[in-house]
Amino acid sequence: MTAALDILITKAEQSKLKDLNLENLPFGKFFTDHMLEADYENGEWKNIEIKPYQPLLLSPSVAALHYGQAIFEGVKAYKDSNGDAYIFRPIDNFKRFNISAERMQMPAVPEELFMEGMRLLVELDKNWIPSKPDHSLYIRPFMFSSDELIGVRPSDTYKFMIILSPTGPYYSAPMRIYVEENYVRAVPGGVGYAKAAGNYGAAMYATAEAKKKGYDQVLWTDAFEHKYVQECGTMNVFFIIGNTAITPSLELGTILNGVTRQSTITMLQEMGFTVEERRLNIDDIIDAYKANTLYEVFGTGTAATISMIKELRYKDFVMEFDVDNWKTAPTIKKWLTDIREGNREDKYNWMQKV
Ligand SMILES: *Cc1c(COP(=O)(O)O)cnc(C)c1O
Repeated sequence: MTAALDILITKAEQSKLKDLNLENLPFGKFFTDHMLEADYENGEWKNIEIKPYQPLLLSPSVAALHYGQAIFEGVKAYKDSNGDAYIFRPIDNFKRFNISAERMQMPAVPEELFMEGMRLLVELDKNWIPSKPDHSLYIRPFMFSSDELIGVRPSDTYKFMIILSPTGPYYSAPMRIYVEENYVRAVPGGVGYAKAAGNYGAAMYATAEAKKKGYDQVLWTDAFEHKYVQECGTMNVFFIIGNTAITPSLELGTILNGVTRQSTITMLQEMGFTVEERRLNIDDIIDAYKANTLYEVFGTGTAATISMIKELRYKDFVMEFDVDNWKTAPTIKKWLTDIREGNREDKYNWMQKV
């Protein structure tokens, strides 16, 4: 595999690591010594390089800055107690990346470039993976259109890159959530299922409005009735009602198909829950709350794994939860963390050795 990927590796003359303590780093602020860069031109991927982390030189006319053909992924690498490095479910991120690419009329990235390029980069910067519990190396693959032309059309050229950021622990305090009824994140036929850069910019206004009202995030609802729940900020959302765990289904294309969502479904099934992927109406959530059968509500995503929701507000109705006594969300978080850090059997072969 290694031999087939034609890749030029230029090592940094010295590592920045010696000036940095890998403990308690804030999320996404520090980057490792190297990055991967590749260009798509004339229908093929070329100039595949791993080189010292450095700024890009871009023309002001570069298409992505104007029309937003830009997508990304978020993946994490861990070190076990033997010092071996593993990446969590990278193939799922690879598949999703190309689903996003297709929706944004961008070229697919070959599996070998994405997977082997990521592996080589992580291997080279392996010393940057923090070994402390709850710490990890965040991997950010991304692609953007790079034609130097101000004209609205799909670009002919693209850049694919991977950068790495040591992080942790990403503590997410229990959240207060505002059920959004004005602004929308995703519509059927739209780009909600793609990890497209513009989705995040488009969400910021509503999130800022919720923050002004004292909330941490919004719970997005459907565009037509503002009744069916979608996602919580940039996390998938789960509701435990009785012995059933419910999360919005993917079929309308309005939900990002989270790797943590899939992993959480598997963990819930292991715990004996019935898992339903379906449309879920806010009125049913309120009914369950009133009947004392709505036990837990939480978000899932790579950065925080699980974020518990301690308050959910719909119009003037406030649902409050005693998160300190929850069993399910903390157990899922622990199981997933244990699998990633090598302290629980990796039954599903999620960990890919670097
Ligand atoms: C990335 C993301 C998620 C979570 O996906 P993971 O693969 O679990 O990290 C959920 N919702 C949105 C909108 C996202 O961008």
